[in-house]
Amino acid sequence: MKKKSFLHVSLVVCTVIFGISYRAIEKNKRLKTNEIKEDSAKKIEVESRTLEQVYTQFSDLKDQYDVIIVGASGAGMAAAIEAKDAGLNPVIIEKMPAAGGNTAKSSSGMNASTTKFQEAEGIEDSNDAFYEETLAGGYGTNDKELLRYFVDHSAAAIDWLDENGMTLDNLTITGGMNQKRTHRPSEGSAIGGYLVKGLLKAVHKRNIPILVNARVIRLNKNGGKVNEVTIKIKGLEPKMLTGKAVIVATGGFGASKEMIEAVRPDLKDYVTTNHKGSTGDGIKMIEKLGGQAIDMDQIQIHPTVQQDKGILIGEVVRGEGAILVNHKGNRFVNELTTRDKVSAAINELPEKSAYLIFDQGVRDRAKAIDFYEKKGYVSSGKDIEELVEKVNLPSNQLHTTVITWNQSVANKIDKEFNRTTAMENDLAKPNYYAIKIAPGIHYTMGGIKVNTQAEVLNKEHQPIEGLYAAGELAGGLHGTNRIGGNSVAEIIVFGRQAGQQAAEYVKSQQHELNSAVY
Ligand SMILES: Cc1cc2nc3c(=O)[nH]c(=O)nc-3n(C[C@H](O)[C@H](O)[C@H](O)COP(=O)(O)OP(=O)(O)OC[C@H]3O[C@@H](n4cnc5c(N)ncnc54)[C@H](O)[C@@H]3O)c2cc1C
Repeated sequence: MKKKSFLHVSLVVCTVIFGISYRAIEKNKRLKTNEIKEDSAKKIEVESRTLEQVYTQFSDLKDQYDVIIVGASGAGMAAAIEAKDAGLNPVIIEKMPAAGGNTAKSSSGMNASTTKFQEAEGIEDSNDAFYEETLAGGYGTNDKELLRYFVDHSAAAIDWLDENGMTLDNLTITGGMNQKRTHRPSEGSAIGGYLVKGLLKAVHKRNIPILVNARVIRLNKNGGKVNEVTIKIKGLEPKMLTGKAVIVATGGFGASKEMIEAVRPDLKDYVTTNHKGSTGDGIKMIEKLGGQAIDMDQIQIHPTVQQDKGILIGEVVRGEGAILVNHKGNRFVNELTTRDKVSAAINELPEKSAYLIFDQGVRDRAKAIDFYEKKGYVSSGKDIEELVEKVNLPSNQLHTTVITWNQSVANKIDKEFNRTTAMENDLAKPNYYAIKIAPGIHYTMGGIKVNTQAEVLNKEHQPIEGLYAAGELAGGLHGTNRIGGNSVAEIIVFGRQAGQQAAEYVKSQQHELNSAVY
């Protein structure tokens, strides 16, 4: 009896073990087949999972959404949040392994007028002053309708960011502006990382999917409306994604040597401050659909770029009081005139490079310098003598230059170069610092022609139905010279507008459909 039950138990155990092993082998087989079949897709998914930020898995992507947003940029994410808040179902497609684009690199801040944060500091500003100064900076060539919409909605953009957890309550100034209207995070840190983190948080809170490592290679028109994109993921067949409207927010082309050389051969050997995905994809795709690209040869050269790796030394450093000196230790330009003029002055120097000089006060007020220091770009000394041992500048002359500058700050008059802004603080607090800089490609003012509704216009100046664009890929707002701080403001003002307008369009289409049915 005992023997019988032992045999019975053994048989059951063996059956269970066999069953489990069989299932395990089968599962393994299935996994292997899937692994081979979906190797590329999985690789992308694993890459996505390993990122600090968890992105949507390719397998979770649906075939259809209300609004397709191309580019997980500042403009793209602002658009997605607005579209979602208007009750739609948006998706964001990003070609790089992470969201952020050039927005993540932005450093100095975001311009806006008549904000609650300016008011709190007693700064009297007006939208008209912001308009006029921007227009003067662009030599009157800015698209005036876009500019009017932009300044009038800048304070609301600051409020909207604040409501979404991104508080920009620390004010500074950039070249070409007469008021402190450049808004930064409270502790004065670089704006880009802070914004991208905040926008991603707001996107995730709303469960908006973001697919990364997915390049949009074509925008498709069906029945006269743009409502589809073709996506290419490495190792996979191209995939079509259908929507009811498409917002393109793919940024500029400052990292495309080919496009730069085509429009400005004189700049072909310049370093660029842009992220490597800034290759003008959206501009090219929209042109193929009949959109117009304007001002393409208007490329902004930033005067203060560290040349080894094209790292921008943000305008905030001058905005907080730094001066520029040539290799003889002399100032040679109003450091806070517009970027084109400062760049031209540097290029006229025999060495075509210069030094930013500042003290501990500037160092403390412009937190972006922490990053430059970590990269090894900042030379320092407890006094001017110690500083010049590390950089190739004549001690006596640099000494004289700093003393003269401090007198100008005290008298509030810069007799040499007529600088009138960023003169609240002298350079008298040791340690002293220097960063060697020269101009580099920084921003592409030209791009796709849009109207104030962020609709893309065709060559007859009519909207291309279903197609919206916002951010650096759009042209016109800045004319031939962009003011520092105006691009981050542009991506929020017009990114929001693109999301709202696309939502209205999709709803109106739905309404028309419903009316036709009943
Ligand atoms: C170093 C640096 C500092 C700056 N500092 C400031 C500043 O302080 N203040 C200011 O106002 N401006 C600043 N700017 C300019 C400003 O940051 C940018 O102009 C702005 O952030 C651009 O935002 P965007 O949303 O239009 O595009 P981006 O932020 O560049 O994003 C575009 C996104 O689209 C993606 N993409 C491109 N093509 C495709 C495709 N085919 N398919 C899918 N995805 C695609 C890109 O990978 C990228 O993620 C700075 C720029 C740089 C480079």
